[in-house]
Amino acid sequence: MSDDNKVECGVHGKTSATFICQHLSNGEGLGFNMGFDPKKPDDLYPDAWCDKCDEVLEKEGEWNDASEAFADIRLVCSGCYCDIRDKNWVQDDEGFTNLVTSSFEYLQEIQDAFMNTYKIGDHERWDWYQETGKLIFSHDGEPMLECEIDFVGTVSTASDTWMWAWANNALTEKIKANSRLIREIGDEKHFLKLASAHWAADEVDGWEMTAIMAKIIRSIGAYRTPSDNGFVYMIVNKASWVKQKKSNSILGFLSK
Ligand SMILES: [Zn+2]
Ligand SMILES: [Zn+2]
Repeated sequence: MSDDNKVECGVHGKTSATFICQHLSNGEGLGFNMGFDPKKPDDLYPDAWCDKCDEVLEKEGEWNDASEAFADIRLVCSGCYCDIRDKNWVQDDEGFTNLVTSSFEYLQEIQDAFMNTYKIGDHERWDWYQETGKLIFSHDGEPMLECEIDFVGTVSTASDTWMWAWANNALTEKIKANSRLIREIGDEKHFLKLASAHWAADEVDGWEMTAIMAKIIRSIGAYRTPSDNGFVYMIVNKASWVKQKKSNSILGFLSK
């Protein structure tokens, strides 16, 4: 992102510039509607407007002089954008809580079996590969277990935030593509945490999002690896033991 898109905020420091309607900044519970720009489909902070603006937009059928005058779009820093989003977003909270609860139940059920069957706690080393979508557990430099994975997202313990994999441009499409399904559900049900790319979060939030994706994708397990400033959360869709090469030492041959 170029420096032109940065804004200096008294509270949040230098952050990205974002745009919201005039009503949202001091409002509460006004609704939070996010635009979609095909040129920036994975935008962390899409332009946003309140429900009243959305009604006008609907009536006008497009952004024109009338709807733009009503919205009177303002520039705010991305930190303020997130605070304003939290204050104004209206959703079915009970529906979301139920989703989290049932997802945790699902994850708990599959996770014990996954950990025990594949002895996940016993491996010496893990490596994941974005290009192939694989998580490999190895011992003494020999791969032992190969897992097919999808990234869910990352928790930064530096900024105490969650970022969905789909919004992370450091990741390959292969490893993040399936996280877009969760975003679609978030858009459809209008759940803030599923529809928004980036929000204030801790490690438990990371597991909640992982559980939701695990349940929706019907994965067989989940895993988390540490990173420089937090954790990467992933779900496991398939796991298989790597066939070890047969010993071809002469002693092995002679002992037959
Ligand atoms: Zn508005
Ligand atoms: Zn700010």
